[in-house]
Amino acid sequence: MSKIQMKTPLVEMDGDEMTRVIWKQVKDILITPYIDLKTEYYDLGLKNRELTKDQVTIDSAEATKKYGVAVKCATITPNAARMPEYNLSEMWKSPNGTIRAALDGTVFRAPILVKGVTPYIPTWTKPITIARHAYGDVYKNTEMVVKEGSKAELLVTNPDGTTETSLIHEFKGDGIIQGLHNLDSSISSFARACFNYGLDTKQDVWFSTKDTISKKYDHRFKDIFAEIFENEYKEKFEAAGIEYFYTLIDDAVARVIRSNGGYIWACKNYDGDVMSDMVATAYGSLAMMTSVLVSPDGVYEYEAAHGTVQRHYYKYLKGEETSTNSVATLFAWTGAFRKRGELDNLPELMEFADKLEKAIIDTIESGIMTGDLYLISKLENKKKVNTTEFLEAVNETLKKSL
Ligand code: NAP
Ligand code: MG
Repeated sequence: MSKIQMKTPLVEMDGDEMTRVIWKQVKDILITPYIDLKTEYYDLGLKNRELTKDQVTIDSAEATKKYGVAVKCATITPNAARMPEYNLSEMWKSPNGTIRAALDGTVFRAPILVKGVTPYIPTWTKPITIARHAYGDVYKNTEMVVKEGSKAELLVTNPDGTTETSLIHEFKGDGIIQGLHNLDSSISSFARACFNYGLDTKQDVWFSTKDTISKKYDHRFKDIFAEIFENEYKEKFEAAGIEYFYTLIDDAVARVIRSNGGYIWACKNYDGDVMSDMVATAYGSLAMMTSVLVSPDGVYEYEAAHGTVQRHYYKYLKGEETSTNSVATLFAWTGAFRKRGELDNLPELMEFADKLEKAIIDTIESGIMTGDLYLISKLENKKKVNTTEFLEAVNETLKKSL
């Protein structure tokens, strides 16, 4: 059998710990036997980030802008404990944060559904995709603790030097204040990324904020979404048979719970942070969650939603058996192949992505799964396998479909 050929390389971002181990196995067992793999390789493992003073992360983001599609392994975001462990000269920033800032992106997260694992909300038969705005609000806040008797005001100095003030509160007792901001340009990028993703995946787009209470701040989000939809997307949505609607966040929550899934729920930064964890948990497992960063000019970076699975890695280092779920990492690769195939007009590559995803799901639904799913699956014939055995079982299923 001849291998599938690629045209443009994928930007490959290698990572850390257990997911780095899985990364290599995925390539060896399920990719290079079938695809004449073309990648531009960037080693984002913490050791190499230290060696390159984190330049490798910046380079990988630039390469992503150049080629358009990247696939990323989970990486360590250093904290105090990692400083001696990796002998770091600096507490390097989160690679995801750096890449997100360079691409100006929105993060889309969707669960992978399999028979045997029922969501805690049994009516959720289709996936709910959360689109999280990744700039500003409480993540870029300024806060202060204020004393009794203080008067807090918002002060803005205009470009011409004039000022505007607005009273926040006259404190009769001790208290706290917080200043937030966002940018029209970032909100517009967020809106376009959501509408493009809706068109790409043929799903409705819901957007929710608290505009009845926040009549200027949240209302600005609502207005920008409405204006961009009206001017740029309305006809495309009609043609695709999908719809966009705006609703209050509390109404959205009620509708989401009663829904069957199958749409994109666009959320402000904080709402998206909280709701994506809620949705992931309700669907069963973080290891069954896809994640893609989409930039407004159509650049895509695929990854797993979970971290480097440190606890399993330490077992692996001790020579103990691990049963780590590789599904989210596999779906990062299939997502990237499908997008690359679409952009380069390579139907064979897209078909391979579909077949590999089907093989993964069929394998789990036939009862073969890693420990995390074994704990929650209701299948009667379920069998727990180790990290490598799972990939080999997927390969056996895949071979039958090729
Ligand atoms: P984690 O890697 O998400 O794992 C937390 C726990 O969730 C694991 O110990 C495991 O539970 C379970 N789990 C997660 N993924 C799994 C999988 N694929 N298969 C089976 N079980 C899985 O979080 P962490 O261990 O707290 O963080 C490790 C490192 O990841 C940190 O340095 C953090 O900075 C980094 N991180 C990176 C990203 C990213 O690159 N996107 C995201 C988050 C965190 P059990 O131990 O109970 O089996
Ligand atoms: Mg969170």
